[in-house]
Amino acid sequence: MRMYMAMLVTETNSFAPMPTGLGSFEEYGIYRGDASRRPEMNEGAAFMRLWHRRAKAAGVEAVEGLCACAQPAGRTLAPVWEGFKAEILDGIAQAGRLDMVLLLLHGAMMAVEQDDCEGDLLAAIRARVGPGVVIGAVLDPHCHLSPLMLDSADILIAMKEYPHTDGLERADELFDLCLRAAKGDIRPVMRDFDCRMITLYPTTDEPVKSFVADMKAAEGRDGILSVSLAHGFPWGDTPWTGTRMWVVADGDADKAASLARSFGERLYRQREALRSNVTSIDVALDRVQAAAKQPGRPAVLADVADNPGGGAPGDSTFILHRLLERGIGNAAIGCFWDLGAINICVNAGIGSHFDLRLGGKCGPASGDPVDLPVTVRNIRAGHTQIGLEGEPTPLGLSVWLEGPRGLHIVLISQRTQVFQPDAFTGLGIDLSGLDLIVVKSTQHFYAGFAPLAASIHYVSTPGAIAPEFSTIPYRTRRLDFWPRVADPLGLDA
Ligand SMILES: [Zn+2]
Repeated sequence: MRMYMAMLVTETNSFAPMPTGLGSFEEYGIYRGDASRRPEMNEGAAFMRLWHRRAKAAGVEAVEGLCACAQPAGRTLAPVWEGFKAEILDGIAQAGRLDMVLLLLHGAMMAVEQDDCEGDLLAAIRARVGPGVVIGAVLDPHCHLSPLMLDSADILIAMKEYPHTDGLERADELFDLCLRAAKGDIRPVMRDFDCRMITLYPTTDEPVKSFVADMKAAEGRDGILSVSLAHGFPWGDTPWTGTRMWVVADGDADKAASLARSFGERLYRQREALRSNVTSIDVALDRVQAAAKQPGRPAVLADVADNPGGGAPGDSTFILHRLLERGIGNAAIGCFWDLGAINICVNAGIGSHFDLRLGGKCGPASGDPVDLPVTVRNIRAGHTQIGLEGEPTPLGLSVWLEGPRGLHIVLISQRTQVFQPDAFTGLGIDLSGLDLIVVKSTQHFYAGFAPLAASIHYVSTPGAIAPEFSTIPYRTRRLDFWPRVADPLGLDA
């Protein structure tokens, strides 16, 4: 047995002002067959190492190919996308006779003139290897599940958790199922169900928590191999944008379709409980100030509309403005992506005190810049935070600023959402004595911050990815989805 493996990951916000170019991938490192062996942190390493380990134990020869990822932003430039696609196809051609192709893909990558990068890639791989080779992929749940993806792959598995803490578990399952299929022990068939919904599904809360538990419970019995939920990525405008269930069954397409429908309709009937639970900035700040202080446990506010993980710039100032206007201090806020401000702070040096213009630079969704007096408390080259796979991920040259009334601000040069408290503490900020922490993230912060938070508040601002799904200006996606339409499947009657 012989397998080829590769990773190509970026999530495309087709409304974002910044394109994704080669530099966006170079920032995270582009690896050609050696991501698993490189000592420095890289996003593909843990997945490639896992598949190498599984292959070795199973007596499968593994060929490692391209590993590339970029922080979400606008469409990937066409030559960059075409180049990566050609590299993966060439790698497969050069790998010789293959039994399996295993991929880690996002599922919501769009390029200029290409709305379905993953479908196009999987179809090209199928055309190259023929029908006898098993093709499998792990996807991010914020994917657009297209017919071409379903038709071209044998097994697609989405990560089940949001925050995505289960990537390696799903990669492990993908290896198992692909190996069994390559040996002829199972005959995977996939069917999906369009829930006609667009919203977010944090799996840390009900009703999604129980839903995920029941998806897992359905697997591994009665011919059901895998059950996945495509949450969908609301800010990518494709014909397939939205929520879809899909099921991989052993040889029985009707069984796969019927289980996908039954899970999909259950989610649909619970949709009112899935309306986004965001509040305005002032409502959240009122609640924080009204609540009794818990010593050592700050309140946490998520700035969901300026999450770089969804393609937002990471420099919006709406919440910072209100903190300053309301005179709120003893707080931390981050991480701002503002390279000019970082340059000024680095030139001034640690301990310097001056007036700084901060944020609000990338476009209207970033708000207006803020002018405030700051002291540079620390500067760190190569700052990191722990990422979703438990390994350090880069934040680049970073700065800790202290503003009025003990307001601590983190600036980073590698545009990234906040995953873990070490984004702050790694610069020296002591979070335990603070009243409030504001993180630019939608949900991936949750695993790291919930244990220390007195309360968590999801806040909407006029930022780039405000979770108001009825008003996203789709031009390609049809508008027949909940919450834009009350009952698009007509099941309420
Ligand atoms: Zn995701």
